[in-house]
Amino acid sequence: MNMNIPFQNTYVHLPPRFFTRQTAVPVKAPRVIRFNAPLADELGITCDDSIEIAEVFAGNRQPGGADPLAQAYAGHQFGGFSPQLGDGRALLLGEVIDSAGQRRDIQLKGSGPTPYSRMGDGRAWLGPVLREYVVSEAMHALGLPTTRALAAVTTGETVYREAGGLPGAILTRVASSHLRVGTFQYFAARRDQDGLQALYDYTVARHYPHVEGPAHLLAEVIRRQARLIAGWMAVGFIHGVMNTDNTAISGETIDYGPCAFMDAYHPQTVFSSIDAHGRYAYDNQAHVIVWNMAQLATALVPLMPDQDEAIEDFTALVHAMPDQIETEWRSAFGRKIGIARATTADAALIGDLLARMADNRADFTNTFRALYSGSARDQFLDPAAFDDWETQWRARLTAEQDPKGIMAIANPAFIPRNHRIEQMIEAAVSGDFAPFERLLTVLANPYQDQPEASDLARPPHPSEVVQQTYCGT
Ligand code: AMP
Ligand code: MG
Repeated sequence: MNMNIPFQNTYVHLPPRFFTRQTAVPVKAPRVIRFNAPLADELGITCDDSIEIAEVFAGNRQPGGADPLAQAYAGHQFGGFSPQLGDGRALLLGEVIDSAGQRRDIQLKGSGPTPYSRMGDGRAWLGPVLREYVVSEAMHALGLPTTRALAAVTTGETVYREAGGLPGAILTRVASSHLRVGTFQYFAARRDQDGLQALYDYTVARHYPHVEGPAHLLAEVIRRQARLIAGWMAVGFIHGVMNTDNTAISGETIDYGPCAFMDAYHPQTVFSSIDAHGRYAYDNQAHVIVWNMAQLATALVPLMPDQDEAIEDFTALVHAMPDQIETEWRSAFGRKIGIARATTADAALIGDLLARMADNRADFTNTFRALYSGSARDQFLDPAAFDDWETQWRARLTAEQDPKGIMAIANPAFIPRNHRIEQMIEAAVSGDFAPFERLLTVLANPYQDQPEASDLARPPHPSEVVQQTYCGT
């Protein structure tokens, strides 16, 4: 049976300078690693032929109704502005309306060069493809807004990176859109008023139909991003490259590069090999997102009739964001310690626990998971550091109705730990995809105890600790 993807494309009808039409460069020997059938179902995609799946998601066969294109965007990378980025190794095949009535992009990542590739080869290797597959699907199961993984295929070709020749692969990513802060910056930097207006209209129609005016749009994006970043922090996630081109207007987590989940808690944790100064360290994420929203605000100013007034209004919105993040953070971490509606006094209690965890190298995930059972103290180098805190906390919990119930769905037992991801990639490179499949299965239910998978809940032994993670490029 031929694959049917019920495309209903809109981006391709935006002005031609928004993108470049581009077809995928066929690969030698595509093979399916994994096809996400439940997600395909949601998207109305029907196909039961694995050869067809391999051909389509490797870019060798263009499915009916696809209108592939590379999107143009700009962005601040580590604080420096690049006026011209764009999809250098990705192609938007098109859009579908999912079973919930939501428009979703279907994008190939690693499908060959585009006019935006600059020095890159337009390809991806197996490691980052599997990493994004596992981590994005885990993020979804953890309950956070994120792009999804629809398919992963190997190409039968070799991709050359610093480490040498590596197996090529392509990821098919699904997103509620690929509109980025950097997309707005692209048109603002060019003083392309019509382009900026068209992008604004498109964004509002697609994501925020109730919005009236750019200030309102900014406020909505800020609201979603504040919640997202607090959500990341509550699961110990470090994105690693929070450049403005990797910040989605939809509020979804996008672009899984050198991302990582923390094992032992420390607020300044950084994994990314390219983040030498810790710009995107764990607790800096709450500051950087405000900076990113300030860049969005700047890009939106030209849409306003009175620019001075706009600057004043937008500045107020951006300045209010840290408080919003704090509120979201307090509520997310409040639930992690069993408090339904955390107050500022509770925030001090949470802060105290985190400080003790940092001093004692306590595992972030396992400490919270073990809080209620009382075994959390074992996570501390000096268990007495926990006992002091526990006394105050237990006293506070007497005012709560269902702390245990709240905590059970706020504290995962399983996260995609770095060393497991690395081991999974190593196995896959030598042809063994069983660890990949197992991670996916276990991480699909992160809040459930799964005794048979207790090894995946264990922090790394010193010899297993991953010091650095690398970009997918
Ligand atoms: P990223 O770090 O994945 O967010 O990518 C930043 C920019 O570099 C985007 O414009 C990408 O399309 C581009 N890029 C990353 N890797 C490659 C590659 N292998 N070939 C071409 N462009 C790339
Ligand atoms: Mg990117």
